[in-house]
Amino acid sequence: MLKSLEINGFKSFAKKGDIRFTSAITAIVGPNGSGKSNVAESFRFALGEQSMKSLRGKKTEDLIFNGSDMMPRANRASVKLVFDNSKRLLGVDFDEVSIERVIHRDSLSEYYVNGTQVRLKDVVELLAAANIGSSGHHIISQGEADRILSANIKERKEMIEDALGLKVYQYKRDESVKKLAKTRENMERVASLRREIAPHLKFLKKQVEKIEKTKALREEVRALYRDYLANERAYVVAEENAIAESEKGPQVELAQLAIELARAREVLESSKVRDARTDEVVILESEIGALRVRKDACAREIGRLEGELASLVRMKAREESKAIRGDIAVSWREIETNLKDVIGACESVSGSSDVNALQNALGQAKSVVATLLLKYASETIKSDTTEIDAEIVTLTQGREEALKALEVVRVDEELVSQKRKSLEFAIDSDKDASRDAEKELFRIMALENEARGKLSMLKVRKDKIHIEKEAFAREVEEGMVLIGRSVYEYESHQVTGKSGTDRSVQEDCRRAIERIKVRIEDSGALGGEDVVREHNETEERDTYLIKELADLEASIVSIEIIIKELEERLDVMFKEGIKKINDRFGEFFALMFGGGTASLSIVREKKRKRALEEGELPDPNENEEGEEGVAIDVSLPRKKIRGLEMLSGGERALTSIALLFAISQVNPPPFVILDETDAALDEANAKKYGDMIESLSKHSQLIVITHNRETMSRASVLYGITMGKEGCSKLLSIAFGEAVLVAK
Ligand code: ATP
Repeated sequence: MLKSLEINGFKSFAKKGDIRFTSAITAIVGPNGSGKSNVAESFRFALGEQSMKSLRGKKTEDLIFNGSDMMPRANRASVKLVFDNSKRLLGVDFDEVSIERVIHRDSLSEYYVNGTQVRLKDVVELLAAANIGSSGHHIISQGEADRILSANIKERKEMIEDALGLKVYQYKRDESVKKLAKTRENMERVASLRREIAPHLKFLKKQVEKIEKTKALREEVRALYRDYLANERAYVVAEENAIAESEKGPQVELAQLAIELARAREVLESSKVRDARTDEVVILESEIGALRVRKDACAREIGRLEGELASLVRMKAREESKAIRGDIAVSWREIETNLKDVIGACESVSGSSDVNALQNALGQAKSVVATLLLKYASETIKSDTTEIDAEIVTLTQGREEALKALEVVRVDEELVSQKRKSLEFAIDSDKDASRDAEKELFRIMALENEARGKLSMLKVRKDKIHIEKEAFAREVEEGMVLIGRSVYEYESHQVTGKSGTDRSVQEDCRRAIERIKVRIEDSGALGGEDVVREHNETEERDTYLIKELADLEASIVSIEIIIKELEERLDVMFKEGIKKINDRFGEFFALMFGGGTASLSIVREKKRKRALEEGELPDPNENEEGEEGVAIDVSLPRKKIRGLEMLSGGERALTSIALLFAISQVNPPPFVILDETDAALDEANAKKYGDMIESLSKHSQLIVITHNRETMSRASVLYGITMGKEGCSKLLSIAFGEAVLVAK
């Protein structure tokens, strides 16, 4: 089923080379150091070997052709195995399957199945199904033939298990064990989550119990809150509206009064003009004074002229009487009476400035004197009075002028007085107006004070309602803490009756709420709805965790069953496998040694003992039972040798070959690679070895790397490897005759 190997850049294979496996046995021959073992390793490499040690390297780069004197080093190594899959041994639906691994100097490995890049895991799984293990039990490296003999019982057991194809089940079991551990971890995690929430849940449970107990109280306080808050809100709203309404009147009034006040102030302002008028009055008064002085002067002039006139008249009369009769006797009584009349007239106006009165008195006096003169005129003779007459005329004229001047002054005075009078009247009426304005001012201010007073009273009410509003908000907050959102029920609650205006009723209600609050607080159950909700959520979570735990427990049980079943199956298969191997092992052993016996046995070695053997300190707590392993018992013909340790090198090689072949026959792998497994055999044994590989090749394809002529003769296809001057390995198909030469 192995079709070909293609190798390129891997180790000593600088150039691309391929081997076609067209027959059951293919031999690879060549001198030492030509690169034969590199071919065996190239198989391990392609099958996904991860151990650098198994590939004889330290680092990945060691696997890439490192260059020679004549050839540059390669940057990439690739090995491709091509399988015939017409029998569908590999679980993919292709007649031919190629598996390729590529490495670069600077990158990780790449794997390809039929040219498609895959993961290592995919390659391993694909091959395991066809009993091509990555552990490479079917690739026996140089010097490793007796590894199965030198291994300890546990390692040996593993090698046999691998060869028997039990790895798949072991893998399944290990996966289940991992899953079990993971599930247990999950279970522990869930349990610890439960433990974590347990105290909180307990606390919440207690709280909920308390809340249940205080439920009635809460209902009561809820109803109280609803009524109280609804009434309080109605009261606040009504009061605010009433205040706003009451404010309107005084505010409007104040605005109106401000206008009136401005007007009154204007009036008062204008009264300053009055002072200027007063000054004018003073001027007029001094004018009047001056006119009076002039009038008095005029009156005095008239008086003087009239006095002179009277004395001239008297003088004329005396002259005239003298001329006519000289002295005439005139009664004294008559003269005295007349003089007294004159004096009386004069005295009646003495000190008066009244021109009319003065004129009257003057007229009176004149007529008294004229009458007397006329009585005695007939008795007188005519005399010369011309001068006197002329003077009288002059004086009379003068008097007439003086009277006229007096009249002018009088008229002027009259005019000025008139002017003053009207000015005074104006001043007086002004005075009246400002007095009125002043009065108005006082009136307005009084009204303003009144309005302000009203407003400040309202301000007091406003402040009070503001405080009550704040108290309301506080109350709602507290209610929220106590009964949650249901505190807002008041918003849709209809108020009836006085709706909070009766403050003492409200106050009683508030006190009742306060009392219940204290009782609820004393009960220690706070939080209400939130706590109940949290409790329910926590309980739900706990229930979920319990269910989760049960599920995990169930899956643990089922995983444990699976593990047990797998273990039982592995046990059965292993024991059966050992039995079958023993049958073949005994046969091959007897064939190789011409007799004797060999068998495998399942043993349980005490750990303590094994640990000591391996130089480790035994763990005192470890199970004394120890681990299961596989022991080999041999007994050579004609010799009393029973232990493996006592075998010679050739005997060891023969024994291990017998065992390896026995194992390979029980569960034949598709191919087996034997790298100089025959190196230690002498000619006789090489022949037996040749017989064995021939019978083995009936079940598995064989690739033998050998220097042995006998072995070569059993192969139908031979490949020679040479290492030329270039320092790199070369592959070539050769005939048997050539092979013998090449091998040397
Ligand atoms: P023997 O018959 O003695 O067992 P062999 O034919 O099995 O020899 P190998 O062990 O396969 O020889 O090849 C070893 C050769 O491969 C050595 O000469 C070594 O220098 C060469 N070699 C190993 N790795 C590289 C590499 N990365 N680049 C170049 N050459 C390498």
